[in-house]
Formats: sequence, C-alpha cells, structure tokens
Amino acid sequence: MPTPILVLNCGSSSIKYQVIDVDDESRLATGLVQKIGLVDSSLEHTVDGISHRIDRMVADHQQALELIVSAFGMYGPPLADVVAVGHRAVHGGEAFRQPVQIDAGVIDKLRELSPLAPLHNPPGIAGIEAAMADLPDVPHVAVFDTAFFSTLPAEAYTYAIDADIAKEYSIRKYGFHGTSHKYVSERVAELLERPYDEVDQIVCHLGNGASISAIRGGVAVDTSMGLTPLQGLVMGTRSGDVDPGLHAYLAREAGMSVAEIDRLLNNRSGISGLTGGTSDFRDLADRIAAGDVAAKLAYDVYIHRLVSYIGSYLAILGGIDAITFTAGVGENDDAVRESVCDRLAPLGFLLDDEANKVRSKEPRRISQPDSPIQILVVPTNEELAMARETQKVISA
Ligand code: AMP
Repeated sequence: MPTPILVLNCGSSSIKYQVIDVDDESRLATGLVQKIGLVDSSLEHTVDGISHRIDRMVADHQQALELIVSAFGMYGPPLADVVAVGHRAVHGGEAFRQPVQIDAGVIDKLRELSPLAPLHNPPGIAGIEAAMADLPDVPHVAVFDTAFFSTLPAEAYTYAIDADIAKEYSIRKYGFHGTSHKYVSERVAELLERPYDEVDQIVCHLGNGASISAIRGGVAVDTSMGLTPLQGLVMGTRSGDVDPGLHAYLAREAGMSVAEIDRLLNNRSGISGLTGGTSDFRDLADRIAAGDVAAKLAYDVYIHRLVSYIGSYLAILGGIDAITFTAGVGENDDAVRESVCDRLAPLGFLLDDEANKVRSKEPRRISQPDSPIQILVVPTNEELAMARETQKVISA
C-alpha cells in the first residue's frame, strides 16, 4: 500500500503542489496554479509525465484549491488515497521549533506571526484553511522554514539593539530555507558515509532567494537570513545586507515611505536592481559574455558577498568537512561555483574543474581527491523533505 502525502506550498499568487509516496519517495503528481487573482490564472497538473493545463480565472486561494481538487478528480491520482497534507509555513517565529499538526490554535498563532512575514504567512494561512475545508478527513501538518534554525545560539540570533525593544517585538534572527538546509546537510552526511552529528559543514542555498548556513555536527549555528528573508546574500531581486542606516537615509533624503523602501530592497535590488531587470543567472551570463559592465559588477558583488560569508562561517565553525551548493544557481551554475572556490582555494577548497562542469541532477562531489574540504553539489528537494516531516508528525 503506498502512503501518498500531498505537499502544498502557497505563495501570494501561486500554489505549488506535489503528491509524494513516502514509502518509495516517488512523485505521483506535481502541479502549479499561477496568477491567482488575475484574469489569466491557470493550473498545470502533471501525472505519469503527462501535463494537463486548465485555464480558468481563480479569484483566491480557496478557488485555487477547488481547481486543484477538480484536477485530481479528472486526472488522478485519487485524493481519497492521500493520508496527510503537509503545508509550507514560512515563519514559525519562536512558537514553532518543529513541524506541528494544524488545529485552530496553530492557525491563530500563525496569524499572530503574520507581521513577521507579511508576504508569506497570510497566503500560507489562506491555503491551509482552504485545504482543510476541501480535505477535512486527513491530518494537516505545518512545516516551518524557520524550524531548522531554532538551534542557533543566542550570540548568533541576537541583534545588538535595545534589548527591551527586541523582546517586545520578537526581533531576532530566525533564518529561512530551513527545510532545504536540513535536507541537503543530511544528504551530505549520507554521501560522505559519516554520521550526521560528526560532520561540520556549510550549505549554500543559491536560488532566486539565497541563504547560507553553518552546521556543526548536524546543529545549525548560524545562517544568513534574519528577522526576514531579506538579510544576507545578494539575491535575484533582494538586496541582502545593506547598512541599516540606509533606511533612515532614504526616508530623509529621498522622501521614501516605509512601503517604498521595503519594495526597493525586496523587489528592485539584488542582481535585478544592479542590472536594470535581469535576475536569472542564465541571462546574466549572456550579458556578461556580451561585455555588459553592469552585469559583470552584479556578478562580482554576488560572489564577493558569498565568499565573505563562507569565510566568516569557516571561522565560526573552526574548519569544515564539506561545503555544498544547492538550489537553481548552486546546482546549475558551474561558473558561480568556480568563482567561489577559486577565491577560497588558499583556504582548502580545491575544485575539480572537470567534475564541476558535468551537468547532472544527481548529488555529486566536485572537489579534487586531495582537497582538505569536500565540495559537493546536492539538488535540494524541499517537497520530499516536507513529505517526510509530515509523515513523522502523523506517525508520532
Ligand atoms: P530556484 O529559486 O532554486 O528555483 O532558482 C531559480 C534560479 O536559478 C533562476 O532565477 C536562475 O537564476 C537559476 N538557474 C536555473 N537554472 C539555471 C541554469 N541552468 N544555469 C544557471 N542558473 C540557473
């Protein structure tokens, strides 16, 4: 008997989903509803390698969920077989350090946490409520992006600001992409054939959003995202670290409102901000090859920031066994991996240039045999990780 789990990832205008059989970890269906709330919304539902598309206006997450349910009805697999639903919950705050079965109290708590993740938690809650209405007979589990980083020591998560204000407003570093960092770091230990709690490692999750983590013996001790997913590395459209004085300066000198500054740093910054609209690394590479100076600077800023974080985490951990690249850029862009490792070669990162250039969907080692630090590429699989976490909760 298979054990299918439906995994849902609700964004503000999209819902991504998969049904995964956690027994053999096979993917039984994948799908995506896009442009929720717009006239040209659509659903794509893929089963057995065949994609089905439905173009239909869906006004909100509830209608999107209804469309997903009808797609399962038309094309399978039967939703009646699903034993649980796992929901991606971006911000668990200090309340949730582990995945949790969702009840009314959990939803209330998620609502309370919404100010900490105004772009992410409200659509997540809308998706949870819609899914619970459509699939009322199975357990629903929230899997938190922040949970893996609940182990950060106080010295890493504390911002050096007025302690009373920090306490009153729950201001601290939380970290995000935790499901990915946990999954990838566990895979690294498997690949190295060593116990997870004996491996000291750095994981670079480089996608459209990007973050890096320092993990000592399976315990996260630092990460680059903070109170919000804006801190840290340069990203597709997000700035990452800037001088905190920038906000006051822009308000004073440019007369910008809080909302405008928020939009600037989240949507009009990063690689896109520096290049005037290019955020995809494939396009960036084309522009660099064509001699585009702004694109080259954006790339250099990206690498500089990444290298300085790796150096910092190397110091915090006092040496590492492995560094791993994952997510869209980390898995696919050999030039980024090469630029980073070339800069870090004097610290023991010896890249095998041939292995680095091989394109593959498999986890792989890309360091030279005698490299003091193992360099790996491990494709992330947040959906599988969420399905596993969901199963753990329902079988506990
Ligand atoms: P993610 O958020 O993990 O889905 O990553 C998306 C990003 O990965 C895209 O915006 C691209 O910048 C990058 N990406 C995807 N495929 C490639 C590729 N083949 N080469 C370089 N970058 C890629």
